[in-house]
Amino acid sequence: MAPPTELILTLNAGSSSIKFAAFPADPAEGRAAFRGAFDGIGVKPGFKVQDGEGALIDAFIWDRPDALGGHAGALSHLMAWLERFEGAGTVRAVGHRIVHGGTAYAEPVALTPDVLDGLRALEPLAPLHQPYNLAGIEAALAAFPEAVQVGCFDTAFHRAHPWVNDTFALPRRFYEAGVRRYGFHGLSYEFIVSHLRAAAPAAASGRLIACHLGNGASMCAIKAGQSIGSTMGFSALDGLPMGTRCGQIDPGVLLYLMGQQGLSVDEVQTLLYRESGLKGLSGLTSDMRDLETSKDPQAADAIDYFVFRIKRELGAMAAVLGGVDAIAFAGGIGENSSLIRERVCAEFGWLGVTLDTAANQSGAAVISRSGGPVTVHVVKTNEEAVIARHCRALLANRL
Ligand code: ADP
Repeated sequence: MAPPTELILTLNAGSSSIKFAAFPADPAEGRAAFRGAFDGIGVKPGFKVQDGEGALIDAFIWDRPDALGGHAGALSHLMAWLERFEGAGTVRAVGHRIVHGGTAYAEPVALTPDVLDGLRALEPLAPLHQPYNLAGIEAALAAFPEAVQVGCFDTAFHRAHPWVNDTFALPRRFYEAGVRRYGFHGLSYEFIVSHLRAAAPAAASGRLIACHLGNGASMCAIKAGQSIGSTMGFSALDGLPMGTRCGQIDPGVLLYLMGQQGLSVDEVQTLLYRESGLKGLSGLTSDMRDLETSKDPQAADAIDYFVFRIKRELGAMAAVLGGVDAIAFAGGIGENSSLIRERVCAEFGWLGVTLDTAANQSGAAVISRSGGPVTVHVVKTNEEAVIARHCRALLANRL
């Protein structure tokens, strides 16, 4: 491998992991030079890097939980690794995946101290993601002080929603105070649209329902490339059931749990974010692969509920769009589970969806039969590539 000399580094910092990828700063070479992750930060830290083709370049596991030293330690390790790694080059920009940009950011932004203050104020809106995203930024500022730091937001793609899709039916003052349907997974949806613009222009320019189905899962109604509706709302809990998150729930259940069963806010938060969804329903696991192979009837129940809610939300998204021209599946489940794709598509014969079973099994990019009114696509999403593209644009504007 001959890595380029100027790099854009993308970072996606979670509570115990940091995923990273490095792209050439030169837009002529779009592919990632390498990608990798730190995981088990604070527990059993590990580090792994692969080249652009997926071959392992380096891996390391620390023997003590505190040996790496948190997010800051991870990024100084990455910086040292980059210096050691022959010819890896200099990092010109660091692009950060940030879950919440609030109402202010519909576009990526250079991270100045003022912008960071604004993002810190959003921590209560995304308590399980935003603080770690910001810890990643602090660590990157220290590790790569010469680089331009760029924030890319999962909420940004949804900022043009019509008001009826942006609000809850609460007194207006709550909307003004930021209690809105923000929508998430925007970087993935942006990738899906840009990918389809090249691979299937009619799908990208028409009425598209994009399904990002991973550990986190949501769907997005996209008209002519613009998000007009999302299943996720104020938090990343709403809409579809997920690995460990509940998805749509009657708010009366929360009143009951807290008022009658005495659960604290923290206990409800843990219940909804960490103990529900596929894991809660199956009583087994949040992992779809394991559920699909399990003989336990509760595993089948969990999959039934997952498919049923996708069916309901897909119907809702079709109504928001006034019809459907294309459906795109992405995310770990959407990209890899032919079973879930088949079961979802089987529900939508009435919409004109006809599955090409062989194409679905073989991992083809288009899995609908030709000639039908709705094309069905499988897109290997790439949020890092979107972040790198935004960084390049921001760097170009600074010249
Ligand atoms: P995250 O939201 O954390 O990025 P991913 O997009 O990686 O998550 O999705 C993880 C989910 O994808 C897990 O439920 C995993 O079981 C599922 N998955 C990955 N590969 C397959 C597969 N071959 N068949 C079914 N599910 C799969």
